[in-house]
Amino acid sequence: MQTAMELRNKLKSIDHRGYPAYKELRGQYDFKDYMLSIDHVQGDPFAAPSRLSVWVKADKAGFPKEFYDTLAKRVTLQDHLTRLFGREIAGGSFQAKGSGKSGLLTVSRCGQQVLERTALKVKDGGVTLRFEAGFPANGRTINARELEKMLFDILPDSVRRSLYYSKIDQNKLKQAICLCEDQQYIREKLGELSLCAFVADGAILPRESGISERPMKGAVPFKSPDSLRVTLNLPNQGAVTGMGIPKGITLFVGGGYHGKSTILQALQNGVYNHIKGDGRELVISDATAVKLRAEDGRSIASVDISPFIGNLPNKKDTAHFSTEDASGSTSQAANLMEGVEAGSGLFLIDEDTSATNFMIRDQLMQEVISAGEEPITPFICRVNSLYQDLGISSIIVAGSSGSYFHVADTVIQMKEYVPYDITQRAKEAAKDYPAMTGSEEGFPAYLDKRCPLPDMGLKKDDRIKIKAMGTSELLLSRESVELRYLEQLKDQEQTAALAWALKFAQLKLLDGRKSLKQVGELLEKQLDKDGLESLFERGDISSSLARPRKQEILACINRYRKLRF
Ligand code: ADP
Ligand code: MG
Repeated sequence: MQTAMELRNKLKSIDHRGYPAYKELRGQYDFKDYMLSIDHVQGDPFAAPSRLSVWVKADKAGFPKEFYDTLAKRVTLQDHLTRLFGREIAGGSFQAKGSGKSGLLTVSRCGQQVLERTALKVKDGGVTLRFEAGFPANGRTINARELEKMLFDILPDSVRRSLYYSKIDQNKLKQAICLCEDQQYIREKLGELSLCAFVADGAILPRESGISERPMKGAVPFKSPDSLRVTLNLPNQGAVTGMGIPKGITLFVGGGYHGKSTILQALQNGVYNHIKGDGRELVISDATAVKLRAEDGRSIASVDISPFIGNLPNKKDTAHFSTEDASGSTSQAANLMEGVEAGSGLFLIDEDTSATNFMIRDQLMQEVISAGEEPITPFICRVNSLYQDLGISSIIVAGSSGSYFHVADTVIQMKEYVPYDITQRAKEAAKDYPAMTGSEEGFPAYLDKRCPLPDMGLKKDDRIKIKAMGTSELLLSRESVELRYLEQLKDQEQTAALAWALKFAQLKLLDGRKSLKQVGELLEKQLDKDGLESLFERGDISSSLARPRKQEILACINRYRKLRF
């Protein structure tokens, strides 16, 4: 390791030289209180910024052990510090002059969710922070004086003010850790109480706008119906009340614009912890919950959708169904079966984004079109056995059809954003109407044996390109994977992680013998144990990642159009 002084001297020696001379800076430098590592130097001022990291030793960082003694708490601490550092570098009035990305200092931007990221890692008390810096230039000529300011003035202050326990607002950090403990407590309690989700009284569910995840101002706070209200004794906040949604089949009904989709969206995001002030801090769902929706046009590779679709006019085999261009109902059926494979314990369905013929077939239609002619067994006929045989609960938003009254265990009406338990009334009323005949047979045992082959083209490619486009698409080599309908994917860095996980699975895991279910479990274990950086070759981090769930990883592999069996 070299000294900080040596870095200063190097900077002097390369000033005014051509941009490539910046490469000489690569290496590690001792700044006494921390170590600075220049890991990757950009090729020119317009390229992606250079990658740097800082390692603060445990005795300097000084964070109390009880702040990171569980994975969830460690992730919360890491998230908190990343935000602090981000604020430090964003707040600086300094702006290096120059061409391209000169003077840019950035770190992963954290949204409303608390996610594990490669940006910052607390390990054995030490803190490793990864960030990016645009090395300054005038045209293509090195401006080392500006970089000196960045590395010797701005960075040391920012590091000290955000990564040293003695220097930060300790109360705020403590609050974040306490909130995390409470959230984890609720998540663990759900199973014990036979609940699949909890929504605290007072929660703010709607968001500011379609493009902002921040809480809506002046929203009607959540208020549980008395019959569903449970009290939880949280380790830090103490007694908290809210609506416990029982396992089984729950229906949300109500007029248009009364808040049905809003609560379902809050529940689908409840698989993540949210930061204080989000409004959904204490909206907690089964961590394996999967939103099921129609996804016309997706590719499906050898999925058994026969529980829902049979007798297709083209005589296609629906037990091993493949298509490049799925219809609404076949895509929703495949999403469901893949959700089963991914170990989901809760499905969330909104009529707004479902294929109608997947959800329901009305009486009149049943009379006119005989069952033998109709390839689809709608979800309503399977939802019970899904729970009875596989233990998977469903929460369904249905504003326009009463047919689900027969099969629901709990019926909740949303009225001007307030939920009412109308189970009794709905069941009474339903008596006078024929039930959509649910098939009495059990849920067909799902074949757990989908064992994909690796993509040989990818194996031969020695420079595999990876690109993440927001949360809607990724590119692996030249292949695009559509992710825009994975509504529980929340962060561009999760998309990047999916791309790396897909590549890792293709090159290291898929072999025609391991099932996708196993692949999902293996990846999850690996990420728990060795972190996101284990997705990179030799652990060399080359982009910022945030952790996706196993459910999204498998969904991504399933959408890879070169998946073969
Ligand atoms: P539905 O699915 O029942 O038609 P939505 O959930 O789409 O209704 O909600 C309709 C509108 O009401 C949305 O613009 C949403 O942001 C807003 N909204 C939802 N919940 C609340 C609330 N608790 N307070 C204020 N506005 C809300
Ligand atoms: Mg709606």
